[in-house]
This record gives sequence, structure tokens and C-alpha cells, in this order.
Amino acid sequence: MKQSKLFTKTKKEAPKDEVSVNAQLLIRAGFVDKLMAGVYTFLPLGLRVMKKIENIIREEMNAIGGQELNMPSLHPKENWEITGRWKSMDDDVYKTKDGENREYILAPTHEEVIVPLAKKFINSYKDLPLAVYQFQNKFRKEKRAKSGLLRGREFLMKDLYSFHLDEKDLDNYYEKAEKAYENIWKRTEIADRTYETFASGGSFSKYSHEYQTVTSAGEDIIYICEKCHLAVNKEIVTDVENKCPKCGAILDKTEKSVEVGNIFKNKDKYTKPFNLAVKNEKGEDKILLTGCYGIGLQRLLGTIVEIYNDEKGMIWPEAVAPFKVHLISLGKDEEAEKIYQELLANNIEVLFDDRDLRAGEKFADSDLIGIPYRIVVSEKSLQAGGVEVKKRSEEKSEIIEVEKLISYLG
Ligand SMILES: [Zn+2]
Repeated sequence: MKQSKLFTKTKKEAPKDEVSVNAQLLIRAGFVDKLMAGVYTFLPLGLRVMKKIENIIREEMNAIGGQELNMPSLHPKENWEITGRWKSMDDDVYKTKDGENREYILAPTHEEVIVPLAKKFINSYKDLPLAVYQFQNKFRKEKRAKSGLLRGREFLMKDLYSFHLDEKDLDNYYEKAEKAYENIWKRTEIADRTYETFASGGSFSKYSHEYQTVTSAGEDIIYICEKCHLAVNKEIVTDVENKCPKCGAILDKTEKSVEVGNIFKNKDKYTKPFNLAVKNEKGEDKILLTGCYGIGLQRLLGTIVEIYNDEKGMIWPEAVAPFKVHLISLGKDEEAEKIYQELLANNIEVLFDDRDLRAGEKFADSDLIGIPYRIVVSEKSLQAGGVEVKKRSEEKSEIIEVEKLISYLG
């Protein structure tokens, strides 16, 4: 991608109405645009990051047998009346009406669609276990939408739903999902500060699990056991008498955190109202059990920015960076163009700053955008024998011969 053709431009000043670091940097660098509080457009650079995150999650969900589908966001009232949530979630959801007074909900979650859908296709215990997932925009009324991407009114989520004949099978799948989630945090480079966190589980299982990432931008408080790398949400810490649920140590260390994902055993909470049942091996009718597994992608992206930044801008981990290389020409456009073509031919994702600007402006933009490798082609670098390569995460730079650049980046 040539930067002279890029749809967006960087801004020098952060927008005055944004207080969060993630939204300030993402807006200044042209990754997102704010339509209104809690509602953002993903611009080309931001969408590239979102797609990287989405693909990591997709690979991990496919690896645990998830099948991807896509459900609508506009749901009929009737389905939500069956589960009782038309009334019970009234404060949290957007509702709308058509000209004939039919009522709808803009979905905050999809149990009310996936369970009756599964009923059309699960006919036998032999069809189980089954897991389906989607990436879909959710809607939630949010009174304090001031944390940038960490708290949205409309936001992209991955939600996976699993169906089981008995608790043993649900427990077994839940463990697999926990491992898949750990892989996702590792691959997005937030694992060392992301804790599986015991939280209240509602009426159907004692606890649910949240995945909480420690950052000063967080609005949740968790109690951490470093030894077990797990945590307890402040909401339930009195329930567990301030003790680590695994090793029993007293929990006295608290941190602010952001919930990037959660997993629940809903059991028969949604299958019962829709009477989703099959006959087991003995010919008895069994109501199916479900688990629900969510990740907020927009929130995860915002959290990565909160963790990986400095006074100059963002510092993207390579796996989710919009491009691997930021190629900058300082008056050496012909030489830089050749390198650009070679990088493209080798499938290396590159943003090529071919604009007619001063070096200082180009470097400031490069630091703000935060692409992992900055490669400068200049009179000085060519005289020194090649191009100047600098990692965004490091201060030092080095000269690499043009012929060796591809293998260096490989
Ligand atoms: Zn412990």
C-alpha cells in the first residue's frame, strides 16, 4: 500500500472529547473514526488490525471444531419473550418498531436465535457435541461510553455456542475452549497480563470465567494469584473468602483490568424454553446443555493499544500489526520503489511512505502508526551500504544490505 494513496491521514492533535489513550492514538493515526460515543468506524488501517485478530480467533475456534456461520442482528420480539429476556434485559438493549407495530431487538447476544436454529438441525444424540460461532456486531446501551474502544454501544464480537447431551461432555468441551482462549492471548501478546478470572455465574453454575487483562485503563478490579496466574473478580471476592480458588493463598494484590472475553456454562437456561431435546442412547428425551464463549474484538484491539504504546504512538505486536514493514523513502523514490516491489513479491505486508514530506514528519507518522519494522532508504543509508532498519519497539537501528533484506525479514 502506498501511503500517498491511503484514504486516511494522521492528525497532530488528539480529539478533545476523547479521554482514553486507545481512542486518542487510534483516531490520531487514522485507524478509527468516532461517529458518536461508543460507536466507531474502522478505517483501512484499523480494519487490517481487526482482520488479523479475527483470523487468529477463527483459527483457534476451528481447531476446537467450531463451524462458522453468521446470524442476523435484528431479532423478533417473540424469540426474546420465550426466554424472558425481552423484559429482563430491557435496560441494556436497543429496541425498535416497524410501521405495523411489530417489535424487534438489536441483538446484544444470540442465544435466542442459535437455540431455535440448532433445533432445526440437531435430531439425534449422534449429532453431538456441536459448536458453531460467528463474528457479528452486538448492540448494548452503555451509559458511560468514555473508554474509547473498551466500551462500545455497537461492537464486534466472536460468540461461540456449544451443544451437549450431558454435563461431562460440556465440561470436556469447556476445557478445550479454555486452552483455545489461552492460545489467543498468547498469539495477540497479552497472555502475561491476562488472567482467567472467577466471576459470578448467575443462577446456573456457581462461577463463570472472565478473561481480564491488566491495564490502568480498566474499569474492573481483580484480585490476582500470581503463582496460579488466575484471578477473582472483586464482585465475588467475599464469596471465596479472599482465597485463591486453586491454591488457597490469600489474595491481597488488586489490579485494574479490562474484560476481553468470557465463557459460561448456560446449561439448559436457553434450551429448556425452546425445548431443544433429543433422545439419548436409551431412547429417553434429554434437554441439551449449552456453553457460550465470547470475545470482544474491538475491546481486545483497544486493550492491545493501551498496553503497547509510548509517548510517540502505538507499538503493534507483529501478529496483529496492520503491516509488517513501514518503508520510507527520503528522496530515493526509485530505489525505494524497487524494494517495495520486492517486498510485495515476497508477500511481506508493507506500507510505503512515498509522500513528498520532510523526514521528521515521516518519522513522526511512522512512530504514531507503530508498524513493527521501519525501513528507511536515503542517500545516507545507501552510502553506508544498504537501508536503515529500526524496530518500533527498540531504539537502535542497523544498516542491512538490500540483497539481504528479504531473508532478514523472513
Ligand atoms: Zn493460587
